[in-house]
Amino acid sequence: MPDCLFCRVLKKEIPSQAVYEDETVYAFHDINPKAPTHVLIIPKKHVEGVAELAPEDENLAGRLILQAKRIADSLGLKSYRLVFNSGPEAGQSVFHLHLHLLGGRRMSWPPG
Ligand code: AMP
Ligand code: ZN
Repeated sequence: MPDCLFCRVLKKEIPSQAVYEDETVYAFHDINPKAPTHVLIIPKKHVEGVAELAPEDENLAGRLILQAKRIADSLGLKSYRLVFNSGPEAGQSVFHLHLHLLGGRRMSWPPG
């Protein structure tokens, strides 16, 4: 998807601070962090968001969550929050699936 921001990040057309990379997943620091740790974990395959996940993406969705956990562990985070914003009214602004890993501060609930 040539006009997709995160596809352009994956192609290194837009610079990013990598945290992790393998053949299916890329993780990088959020450019506008909402917590001391704010990492985005994305699939290399372009999927618009959670609502667009297909049955065959089951492993991919699981990969994102497990990789987020591994990154949290590697950063020594004991508590953290994983967030998928799905749709504009839920706060999704980039339409390439991404899992937010937020940590390093106390979080309130419910989210706004
Ligand atoms: P969302 O609002 O859930 O779609 O999350 C999109 C996230 O992408 C926001 O937290 C932005 O700060 C972040 N973001 C936007 N552009 C970039 C970029 N070039 N590099 C890293 N993070 C970005
Ligand atoms: Zn994309």
